[in-house]
Amino acid sequence: MITIEHLQKTYGGLAVLKDVNATIEKGEVISIIGPSGTGKSTFLRCLNLLERPTGGRILVDGEDLLSPRTDISRIRQKMGMVFQSFNLFSHLSIMDNLCLAPVKLLHKSRAEAERRGMELLQLVGLSEKAQAMPSQLSGGQKQRIAIARCLAMDPEIILFDEPTSALDPTMVSEVLGVIRGLAKQGMTMAIVTHEMRFARDVSSRIFYMDQGLIYEQGTPEQIFEHPKEERTRVFINRIRDYHSHIKNAHYDLYALNAELETFMSKNYLPLETQNQLLLLAEEALQITPLEQGLDLTLRYAEKTGQLTLELLLAQGQMSAFQQSPDPLSMSIIQGLCSRTGESVVNCPEGPRVRMEMELKGIKEKLNV
Ligand code: ADP
Ligand code: MG
Repeated sequence: MITIEHLQKTYGGLAVLKDVNATIEKGEVISIIGPSGTGKSTFLRCLNLLERPTGGRILVDGEDLLSPRTDISRIRQKMGMVFQSFNLFSHLSIMDNLCLAPVKLLHKSRAEAERRGMELLQLVGLSEKAQAMPSQLSGGQKQRIAIARCLAMDPEIILFDEPTSALDPTMVSEVLGVIRGLAKQGMTMAIVTHEMRFARDVSSRIFYMDQGLIYEQGTPEQIFEHPKEERTRVFINRIRDYHSHIKNAHYDLYALNAELETFMSKNYLPLETQNQLLLLAEEALQITPLEQGLDLTLRYAEKTGQLTLELLLAQGQMSAFQQSPDPLSMSIIQGLCSRTGESVVNCPEGPRVRMEMELKGIKEKLNV
């Protein structure tokens, strides 16, 4: 359906896309992953000519998109695009948002456009919102409307650019659910996403973009389990962490909680998981002697869904697990964790005690 050959895009002297080659077949779901700034958005924008490529070819059903004879607006109609920010017309009702383009560009009658509009609202689970205004909807609902609006143009492919990145973590799954439904119906889609589990689950193929190239591509199994390239492997297995040094018992608990929450939200962890982690941190700090301070690390391994809280205690401090001054706190911690462990590590300033607590039951709660 789409063939991309030696696609290039430079901005001034900056080569963002260097040599992108790919094919997308009808009915495929392609997830595009990779570090930020590697040209994923630029790639999508070149595909539907929101950006003019500076080199290469894009063939859609055999037709050269970059040929001066090509009717760009017709080709663009075949390719819907859904952005991070929903871009609904705020002064129009939901139904008007859905009818505008089909009436104007596809020359449908208003009645026909509304009939299709209602079908699509049903598809995205928002039938009752036809007469609502965009401002009355949540972010997740707006994004579902944006998807419906895109479908109203009967596209042959939908390009998604991080459709869930601007959403509150609680609303991610409703949008992913709609996209998943479209995949089941055989809709051709290319999705730039940070939702690794979703990408793995829903895609026929994954493009890993890096260095202005599709650095590696393959089935989800190939990319996630047996990546060939070192860069892919590092990206897939990356672990993110948050560090904080707690000076003494007078640390600012609220500021710490806010920072932990921000870190977890950025990593799209469900609210329930976030709350459990905050409880875990609070209990752990409760039983830990803080006079000499400690280092706290929250580590998240995206691929496995492991979230681990680690406390590194100052030299000579007795470990809280050994001491166990508060049986209630200890039992809460044990209840929240699938694993707790304690070890001595050699640090430059001497041996320290490391308490590790791995929160349990995250995988079941993740958004997919
Ligand atoms: P990604 O979506 O993978 O994060 P982008 O495609 O948004 O990456 O951007 C890739 C690079 O291109 C970035 O370095 C960005 O600054 C640059 N870039 C994107 N759009 C423009 C533009 N309109 N003008 C100049 N540079 C741009
Ligand atoms: Mg982007």
